[in-house]
Amino acid sequence: MAEQVIIIGNGGAGLAMALALAKANHHVTIISAKQAPADRMLGGVQMAANGWSALRDLGCYDAVWQYAKRLELMRIMTLSHGHTLVSMPLDEAHQRQPYASVTRQGLIKAMSARTLASTLISHVTAEVMHIESHAKQAVVFDSNEQEYQADWVFGADGMMGLCRQYIDGGEMAKPKLASRTVHRFLVPLDHLPAVMASASTSVWLGREGHIVHYPLSNGMLNLVVITHNSINGRTNGHDSCWALAERLLDAHPSLDVNHPSLASDQVHMMALQSWPRCDSWVRDRVVVTGDSAHQMPPHLAQGTGQALIDAASLGRCLADGKTIADAIPLWAGQRMRRIRAVLASADQAGLVFAPPPLLSPIRDVMVGLGGMAVMPRILDKIWSDQL
Ligand SMILES: Cc1cc2nc3c(=O)[nH]c(=O)nc-3n(C[C@H](O)[C@H](O)[C@H](O)COP(=O)(O)OP(=O)(O)OC[C@H]3O[C@@H](n4cnc5c(N)ncnc54)[C@H](O)[C@@H]3O)c2cc1C
Repeated sequence: MAEQVIIIGNGGAGLAMALALAKANHHVTIISAKQAPADRMLGGVQMAANGWSALRDLGCYDAVWQYAKRLELMRIMTLSHGHTLVSMPLDEAHQRQPYASVTRQGLIKAMSARTLASTLISHVTAEVMHIESHAKQAVVFDSNEQEYQADWVFGADGMMGLCRQYIDGGEMAKPKLASRTVHRFLVPLDHLPAVMASASTSVWLGREGHIVHYPLSNGMLNLVVITHNSINGRTNGHDSCWALAERLLDAHPSLDVNHPSLASDQVHMMALQSWPRCDSWVRDRVVVTGDSAHQMPPHLAQGTGQALIDAASLGRCLADGKTIADAIPLWAGQRMRRIRAVLASADQAGLVFAPPPLLSPIRDVMVGLGGMAVMPRILDKIWSDQL
């Protein structure tokens, strides 16, 4: 029987969930606070085979692929000497295709277009202020003083959203400042050496942090610099983290951080926050998904992919003819188990990429000796674990 569903948030998680539910003939209203904030739409994300497979399941693969750039190699290098520690092909022979970058704007545009084309999905622009849920119904109150009743509410409102707090009864501890700060730059590729446009994703390991970069289909380089907030036990302020990022970029063999093309509107800086992990994704008729359910450290580039898999996987459960009420416990159980495994690997990758500065020379030796043996094994397992 068709049910009424409200989805809060129109990021990747919300749009994907809307498509999965509409495919099972449920009526969906997406309530979202305007567009995703500008900083969230900057640049791109990398997406591995598991994310692309979810998009295929949701009927969006071709639409999103227009904004993708296939990446053929993953490299890890030392920032100090430019030594290559790991060089992992992302090709068909190794079954690591498709691996591609995609612009955040393109991903959202393509998925939004699919939701707009569905007669079962409607959109409301408003901020959700309050949620109430009972055994068989949920009510949502928005900033336009409208009230919506639904059989189910899916919270896809990101890691700072209302819904995860609702599930936790408002008791959830505040986020802790993680020990790193992320700086995201967008640099036009035509201002950079040709090597930067090559179809590869590159990680440069340094003492004070690391750099990740990959080209996007829109002619930009997506460049992420992750610095330690604290060096030698001293906590750095915002400015010091910025100075550290500049130092790392200065040490980069192929970048000129002072290039005029690095305009300030192409730079975004944020302190990484780590949220307590949810023990439950469901309370009465409210369900969380995407970052709202499982904020993912960025070290394995799995946040968006896992949000898409949440939706595709629920879609699979519903396709068996189950009601939402029957599908949810099965889905949440399966997804939480898998997410725990991905989170554990992402945490480990974070320790390797960003150990305390004094240990970084040892890290380089270990990655050089064991990286090619260990990394493909871990990544292949995650990338092939599809739905
Ligand atoms: C530095 C960095 C690099 C990353 N790189 C990658 C990568 O390479 N690959 C990858 O897969 N992932 C990556 N990620 C993770 C990825 O960005 C997130 O996992 C993904 O954006 C989560 O999508 P979401 O839809 O769950 O949440 P969001 O994108 O945060 O969307 C939440 C939506 O909810 C709306 N909203 C919030 N509150 C309300 C409210 N009260 N009422 C109405 N609407 C509301 C917001 O406007 C927004 O549209 C990275 C993250 C970071 C920080």
